[in-house]
Amino acid sequence: MTDAINGYACAAPGAALAPFQFARRHPRVDDVVIEIQYCGVCHSDLHQAHNDWGNTRYPVVPGHEIIGRVINVGASVSRFRTGDIVGVGCLVDSCGDCPPCCEGEEQYCLNRPTPTYNGVDRHDGSTTYGGYSERIVVAEKFVLRIPDRLDLKAAAPLLCAGITSYSPLRHWNVGRGQRVAVVGLGGLGHMGLKFAKALGAEVTLITRSAGKEQEARRLGADDVLVSSDPAQIGPAAGRFDLILDTIPTPHDLNPYLSTLRLNGTLVLVGLIGPIAPPVHSGLLVTARRSVAGSAIGGVEQMQEMLDFCAAHDINCDVEMIRMQDINRAYERLLKSDVRYRFVIDMGSLKARVPAE
Ligand code: NAP
Ligand code: ZN
Repeated sequence: MTDAINGYACAAPGAALAPFQFARRHPRVDDVVIEIQYCGVCHSDLHQAHNDWGNTRYPVVPGHEIIGRVINVGASVSRFRTGDIVGVGCLVDSCGDCPPCCEGEEQYCLNRPTPTYNGVDRHDGSTTYGGYSERIVVAEKFVLRIPDRLDLKAAAPLLCAGITSYSPLRHWNVGRGQRVAVVGLGGLGHMGLKFAKALGAEVTLITRSAGKEQEARRLGADDVLVSSDPAQIGPAAGRFDLILDTIPTPHDLNPYLSTLRLNGTLVLVGLIGPIAPPVHSGLLVTARRSVAGSAIGGVEQMQEMLDFCAAHDINCDVEMIRMQDINRAYERLLKSDVRYRFVIDMGSLKARVPAE
């Protein structure tokens, strides 16, 4: 049994997103049915709509920064009731049995976690569709509690941009006395600055955009370096314990690696394919430096991050848009022209207003 749902989909690489109707299942015993209020726009949505990773199943309904209200629950659901405000991030399922799943790291499920969109449901083989839609049906385990203190519009991007920047900072034990650099001031980067600061680190933004200095300082940066200026990058040699690199396209890691101190780590979060030009081994060997990667975060850590945000008064800086404006938002995202996350007011889907 299914319900017809209205959403927005991309039908082919390069096609504009447009209204799309599709089916969602009736709740299984452990499912929560959520009426979506807000959905953030992640650069991954754009990668997926453009088939940048070569695995897009069209039509794709993106959206994995979802905030909404519970409107129905399955018979065995115990943690949520109708009326609760909840969140859904990048995953809606995983095998639940492999070592990473048992350790609460569902994002590294050895049997592939099920993404919120562009995935295949483990039980019925249907395609998963994301948050650019009026409702979503998700197993209780993958539904997050949204603390009362958080502004709901601004909380939506925490479900991906938030956890993806928080998780590596926690994994590498960032805290007082450490120096962290965040590369790229976009959705993930602006949250990286806020989290690293709140965890007690000294924080530097490395950006290609000279005009972002004042904003970066407002968001928590103690220092700002412009990546294209050797006079700024050179003197930073050996400075950082951790670099959170959020650049969404292939780029040269070598200048950034030189700014790591002994035992420092550069963490990539962008899925940018092969690293080119090659990393110089001398930069790794001579200071025991590492290049690492990190993907979102597990369900338990997502709840920890949401509670951390409530405790430290942290939220995302968002620009609200209507669903009908999504194509313009993608154009602006490609130009890094967003402060610092677009969030779709999903109420606009019902309004049937024309696109800008
Ligand atoms: P975003 O909002 O577009 O921000 C990316 C920032 O990187 C830009 O604001 C810009 O900052 C910088 N940048 C963009 N193009 C660049 C280029 N060609 N060269 C150098 N710097 C550039 O993107 P986002 O949503 O934060 O996502 C960032 C990446 O993380 C994407 O590839 C996304 O798919 C990925 N991601 C990964 C995960 C994960 O689990 N690992 C989760 C979510 C997203 P400046 O202007 O300051 O330089
Ligand atoms: Zn995302």
